[in-house]
Amino acid sequence: MKTDEKCEICCKPATRFLFAAFICDDEKCIEEARRRRGGPGGHQKQRMFAMGNRE
Ligand SMILES: [Zn+2]
Repeated sequence: MKTDEKCEICCKPATRFLFAAFICDDEKCIEEARRRRGGPGGHQKQRMFAMGNRE
């Protein structure tokens, strides 16, 4: 996906729209966008729990 938008986290050209934010390919930016959004349940604890399951 190509857009004229900039990553809301690092200001590089955005490549995707995720978690209600334009972001680039950087995993850190994806995580940050997800954190800002609040995750599925809106709680920090739930997010960490989900990450623990994945890794
Ligand atoms: Zn970025």
